[in-house]
Amino acid sequence: MRLISNTLQVQHHSPMMTRQQIGQCADHGGYRSTDIMVAGHWVPGGCPACHREEFARQSLAESQAIESRRKAAALRKIGIPERYLQVGLQDTGLAAKGMDRASILNWLNRRSTYDHLVLVGEPNSGKTLTLSAIAKLCLELDDGPGRMQAPPIFINFGQLRQTWSYKLSGELFPTYTGARLLCIDDFSERADLASDYSAEFIKAVTKVRHDHNLPTMVSCRGLSTAKQYQSHLAHGSCENVTL
Ligand SMILES: [Zn+2]
Repeated sequence: MRLISNTLQVQHHSPMMTRQQIGQCADHGGYRSTDIMVAGHWVPGGCPACHREEFARQSLAESQAIESRRKAAALRKIGIPERYLQVGLQDTGLAAKGMDRASILNWLNRRSTYDHLVLVGEPNSGKTLTLSAIAKLCLELDDGPGRMQAPPIFINFGQLRQTWSYKLSGELFPTYTGARLLCIDDFSERADLASDYSAEFIKAVTKVRHDHNLPTMVSCRGLSTAKQYQSHLAHGSCENVTL
């Protein structure tokens, strides 16, 4: 045992064998490198400038990967559905409807006359995709150091309805009223509005958002639902876009 232990120690403390070499790099010309002896073979040190460039490339790739993970995490946090994390405005049909990036940015920055952007479309017409793309644009708008605005919030109205409670609304109210942009996907209304407390909750939310001059975005399946939203729930004026 003692012998093995000593041998290991000797190996561990043995100095690494090196030699200085002169080399020629196609990109950087002549260089001095330090070769090292590994298991009885000389391993060339290579061009130091090439190593620095490769290190910089790897660092950049790593920081880009970290950045894209950070962005994806931020998108998940605001509630954008997983399958729409990657979509952008170019994936929507908005440009063909006369809504280009500039007009959407104007709206997000409250340079439009309307508070609510209402997207109307049948199932699979791209409502959720469009909401996601605009929420992403809004997040990017406010992303970066020094920007302390509350991020956008993306909610599915059906899910809100299922999980809504008076207790929960106390927690949700400040978040929904303070969000930079509130996206309400697949809004629908029951015939008996008087007993639809989740809709009443949204009504109260849109009132405060209107008072604070914050934009709200809604998607509905039909024009009649959009009109219900507009007349019963939304404080402020609406712009309807049919997808
Ligand atoms: Zn080189």
